[in-house]
Amino acid sequence: MLNKIIPENSIQQAQKLIDKYDRIVIVTHVSPDGDAIGSSLGLYHFLLELGKSVNVVVPNNFPGFLKWMKGAKEIVVAEWKENLAREVVEAAELIFCLDFNALKRIERVAPWVEKASAKKVLIDHHLDPGNFCDLTISHPEISSTSELIFRFICRMGMFEYVDRECAECIYAGMMTDTGAFTFNSNSPQIYYIISELLEKGIDKDRIYDKVYNHYTESRIRLQGYILYEKMKVFEEYNTALITLSAEEQKRFDGRKGDTEGFVNIPTSIDKVIFSAFIREDENMIKISLRSKGNFPTNQFASTIFNGGGHLNASGGEYYGTLEEAVALFENALPQFKGQLQETVKA
Ligand code: 5GP
Ligand code: MN
Repeated sequence: MLNKIIPENSIQQAQKLIDKYDRIVIVTHVSPDGDAIGSSLGLYHFLLELGKSVNVVVPNNFPGFLKWMKGAKEIVVAEWKENLAREVVEAAELIFCLDFNALKRIERVAPWVEKASAKKVLIDHHLDPGNFCDLTISHPEISSTSELIFRFICRMGMFEYVDRECAECIYAGMMTDTGAFTFNSNSPQIYYIISELLEKGIDKDRIYDKVYNHYTESRIRLQGYILYEKMKVFEEYNTALITLSAEEQKRFDGRKGDTEGFVNIPTSIDKVIFSAFIREDENMIKISLRSKGNFPTNQFASTIFNGGGHLNASGGEYYGTLEEAVALFENALPQFKGQLQETVKA
């Protein structure tokens, strides 16, 4: 049996909103990952089963290896269909905000959601949720928003409305936010949920294959290049850094999501407990941080790059040149020397 993690009054409030409203929009964070798309499409299928009119709106495009999910083609990408995205948000009676904790995480969609007359419900697992929704369901102790969506549906007593496609999306989100159940995944409840999803007819081996074995050739070549040429290891600090310029991404025909997951690779080096990936984006420098053990990457992100996130996975932005961001990173390492040397890699 599942523990009752979401408070009963939140479930009741949400259920009333779902009963009352028909035009529903689901929004999720910029550069959507597997959990963002999985939780959004999971909820989308469930609401469609209830006979609702539903749109998923994302700020920008998402990686090709998530596009096999049913409903992915119907997602409104605001970067491409700005008018349509704004119109559906404005016309919504109910908006679900999934997998983000602050309006700025939905970038161009934020002002529309902020001004929208719809009732808003947040379902998320990031720390420090902002106060921008009428109902906030925030559980940082849960490893994915997709798991929260499963719990949410079950607690409303509507498990029968979860079809196979819905179950596939939820599974994909749970899988990607735990590195295919290799971190944040010791809760027995996760496996109880997986068994329920399997009962719905999902093929978990096929889902793994769809997500992890369908990369572009350019991504694999780029991976080889960055590991051989662009990775710097700071032994004294148990740290690794990868940098990538816009020109290099272009050279490898980089597509959206082609660099996703690269930041994790150096943490598989013996003794490396902290890994950073600094990449030149369209109008800023994007910083991604990962750690093993208890090194607080979110503290590093907030102190040095005004960013944030979870203990072991966080990020930030820098407005300036790639070289400046790299210098900022390298110069910050001595400040964290104690913590970097203390953390023993298990
Ligand atoms: P990623 O490295 O996959 O882009 O981001 C990992 C996590 O770090 C995200 O789930 C999010 O919680 C956090 N994060 C990434 N970028 C930012 C940022 O610019 N600001 C804040 N506050 N958090 C970020
Ligand atoms: Mn997530």
